[in-house]
Amino acid sequence: MHRTYIHEAKKKVGPKRERIAPVIERFAAAHPDAVIALRFRNDLELLVSVLLSAQTTDVTVNRVTERLFQKYRRPEDYLAVPPEELEADLRPTGTFRQKARNLRGAMKMLIEEFDGQVPTQLDDLVRLPGVGRKTANVVAAERGATQGIVVDTHVRRLSQRLGFTRHDDPVKIERDLMRLVPREDWARFPHLLIWHGRRVCIARSPRCEDCVVRALCPSSRV
Ligand code: SF4
Repeated sequence: MHRTYIHEAKKKVGPKRERIAPVIERFAAAHPDAVIALRFRNDLELLVSVLLSAQTTDVTVNRVTERLFQKYRRPEDYLAVPPEELEADLRPTGTFRQKARNLRGAMKMLIEEFDGQVPTQLDDLVRLPGVGRKTANVVAAERGATQGIVVDTHVRRLSQRLGFTRHDDPVKIERDLMRLVPREDWARFPHLLIWHGRRVCIARSPRCEDCVVRALCPSSRV
């Protein structure tokens, strides 16, 4: 019964290849402010912010980095203080010991292998301690060197609900999205889904009645 219902819903909204452009267009109109919420002034601050954003909110990260970036301006600065001092500075972001360890490791590698600069290639970025594919994709996209599509919890949930993927594994979801989303939209697509996921397509109770893509979504409840 349930399967039939999903099948019918998918048939009604049409194939994903035909829906992707209007979905992006409607999201872009509904969320013109959909950009990264982290605050940073340069590549190093971008990398540090994204590293700190794991398992906490962007608001908390911004609060912490406001002071952090006054104190630590170059990769060397993160290594010049005792590890406990850096841990204390990161404390409000949670899992601060691990974050401090990763940050120190990343800064060391930047100095030793990348001339103190943040690399732009995903293959280089993912070698930095604490940097997974998602972090690397965020950093690359923000620097105008997009090479993939960021898949976080919102992107995963919305891609599934919109019928853009049947997978649960972020790597497979990213692969599906890279085949579907036009290349020029790879950078903004996750931001649109993240903001729509926060404001409308909420995890526990999606507000389908207020959703601009309800006519294009096989999971719509209205
Ligand atoms: S119609 Fe509902 S389930 Fe589909 S994207 Fe909108 S809020 Fe989410």
